[in-house]
Amino acid sequence: MPLSCSSALICCMDFRLTSALHAWMEKEGIMDDCDVISVAGISKAIAEDKESNDAKFILKQIELSSKLHDIKTLYLIHHTDCGAYGGHNAFQSIDTEKQTYIHDMEKVKKVIHESFSGLKIRCILAEMHSPENIQFVSLN
Ligand SMILES: [Zn+2]
Repeated sequence: MPLSCSSALICCMDFRLTSALHAWMEKEGIMDDCDVISVAGISKAIAEDKESNDAKFILKQIELSSKLHDIKTLYLIHHTDCGAYGGHNAFQSIDTEKQTYIHDMEKVKKVIHESFSGLKIRCILAEMHSPENIQFVSLN
């Protein structure tokens, strides 16, 4: 019997997310049923230039997850105060910051759909209010 799982997720390598991410995965019902792709900046590289080596690396991980584990859903989990984006201080306001992540996720969703048309893509924004208070907000 081939190995399979329901989904894969792309999240940031940021250590502050680990416990909250695991709790969210439990709640979502995907713990031990999801490939975890951990990359600094999540899908930022794809949003910036889908032909870059970093973008190709991430797309390759999705392809492998799809081929090896027949995933049906891909979660894009961006988070506020992401160091790869320069953190909170790189933005004029929290709204501007959130809009940037949302815009990038929408862009990346289209790129991924071009290669993986059957994959359902869920966009999640992890809002980091404090290390103990991280809320995962589903955008679709
Ligand atoms: Zn980050």
